[in-house]
Order: sequence, then structure tokens, then C-alpha cells
Amino acid sequence: MQKTVKDYIRTIPGFPHEGILFRDVTTLFADPQGFRLCIDQLVAPHRARRIDRVAGLEARGFILGGAVAYRLATGFVPIRKKGKLPGRTIAQPYKLEYGEAVIEIHDDALQPGEKVLLVDDLLATGGTAEAGIRLIERLGAEVVGCAFIVDLPDLGGRRRLEAMGLEVHALCA
Ligand code: IMP
Repeated sequence: MQKTVKDYIRTIPGFPHEGILFRDVTTLFADPQGFRLCIDQLVAPHRARRIDRVAGLEARGFILGGAVAYRLATGFVPIRKKGKLPGRTIAQPYKLEYGEAVIEIHDDALQPGEKVLLVDDLLATGGTAEAGIRLIERLGAEVVGCAFIVDLPDLGGRRRLEAMGLEVHALCA
């Protein structure tokens, strides 16, 4: 039988700490059929619409975002952890399970009115994606969709992003 994207993802219990079931997408990325299937499915809902840039969240969002941008014939914009981008940036703090983190985007990476597809590997609480969306919107660009491989629906990320009026696509739960 034809394998699905989910079949290529392995679950590692106890990473990064006790009680967590970590979805490890490196096995999906490493498989030629799996990776191609994943990129094809991430791109599919967005083929017919205008997308000016794909933005990817560090770090797995870079691997996906680069391939998705290539397939959509757009450019790619990285959203990185604080202190990693060399040019002038704007920063957005967001809550983690314990404490706070900050992500950044170059302040000239997007132009007002540009249409952006945000990409990451996994949607949990939606905190990381929301921070990325805020950065994109602060530059005057518009998020036209959010694409993930995995959505963990119990953690509420999809509801949170949809409540912001955003279109969310995920390949599996
Ligand atoms: P959120 O901000 O709670 O939605 O968490 C999503 C972020 O944490 C994404 O950037 C993911 O890469 C990362 N993440 C959380 N849990 C996992 C997992 O089980 N596998 C891979 N990445 C994860």
C-alpha cells in the first residue's frame, strides 16, 4: 500500500524531556520518496494563488521552506532565533513551556503588501507560528497561509491561528 507522510515520521519518547513524545521528521526528510511526497503535499493548496515569499521558522522550517519556495518559484525568508541574522532585524518575544524565547526577521526581508506562506514542521500550541506571523505583519506583509507537516490538535495551535483569521494546512496529526 502507498505510504503516507505520517508513515515516514518516527516518534521518540522522552525527548527533550520525560513525558514528551517527540515527532522526529528527520526520517521523513532523509527518505527520497517521503521528502518529495511531503513537499508536494505542502505546496498543493497554494499552487493556484499568489505567493510572493515563503517564510520558514528555524530550523526545520528552513529545510521545508527552501524546497516549498523552489516549487512555488518564490523567494525564501528565514525567521531565526535571536542573534543569528547578520543584518538589521525586528524581534518578537513569545512564550515557551518554561520561560520565553525571541525570534527575529531582517527588517527589509519583506515589503508591505507581499503575500507570504509561513512554513514549519510542527504546530503545537501555535506560539512559535504566531510570533512568526507577528513579525511578517509588522513588516506590512500578509500571511496568506500556514503550512505544517504535523498538527497536534490537542495543544490548540490550529484554533489559535484560525482565530487570527488564518488558513492552516497540516499533512497529519
Ligand atoms: P508551538 O510553538 O508550541 O506550536 O511549538 C512548535 C514549535 O516547536 C515548532 O517550531 C516545532 O519545530 C517545535 N516542536 C515542538 N514539538 C515538536 C515535536 O514533537 N517535533 C518536532 N518539533 C517540535
